[in-house]
Amino acid sequence: MHKGKLFVFSGPSGTGKGTIVKELLKSPDTWFSVSCTTRAPREGEIDGVHYFFVTQEKYDQMVEEGGFLEHASIYNNSYGTPKAPALEAMEQGKDVILDIEMQGAFQIKEAYPDAILVFVLPPSLKELSNRIHHRGTETEEQIQVRMATTLQEIEQLPKYHYFLINDDLDRAVEDAKSIIKAEHCKVDGAASSVINRFKEEK
Ligand code: 5GP
Repeated sequence: MHKGKLFVFSGPSGTGKGTIVKELLKSPDTWFSVSCTTRAPREGEIDGVHYFFVTQEKYDQMVEEGGFLEHASIYNNSYGTPKAPALEAMEQGKDVILDIEMQGAFQIKEAYPDAILVFVLPPSLKELSNRIHHRGTETEEQIQVRMATTLQEIEQLPKYHYFLINDDLDRAVEDAKSIIKAEHCKVDGAASSVINRFKEEK
């Protein structure tokens, strides 16, 4: 029937978009794009599951070869979405889910105008700061850098198609599922294939 769609979940760090995305991936119709990164694995992170942890040389080579759908450097580390597996998953009818930061989201919007951009917002700036402290994976200095850019990031909201406020995880996940469903019920681009299906039946 339809090819899968490309959903980009992004927003400030610490909003819990990873948790929302994990819930979406319980559906067999979704496929998660595992990014490449040059940063070191954190406690509990598995190569090939959370990220492909690659050297800067390997990363640079992939950039050179056009192997990424998008790529960006954040906080001195580089990240990229491998192109071939994502395109293949969509070809197979899966909805491809990206959990990436905003520079990457805008690159995707440019290159793939059909992509759907979803902004995941924290309940408040104070709550966001509490969550990042609680996670305990970053130094105070790194947290300060992240918080300083958060408001500027939120000001980019008009460039997105949808937003979610992650104050209640279950509700946020329901909203995310509704967004995916709504996109599949859109007439845009699907009209002729739907009409033809009924014509063929006649
Ligand atoms: P972290 O290092 O905390 O895992 O991720 C830092 C930021 O990089 C997060 O906002 C995450 O969503 C984003 N990120 C992860 N993978 C990619 C990617 O492939 N491309 C881009 N542009 N951002 C990514």
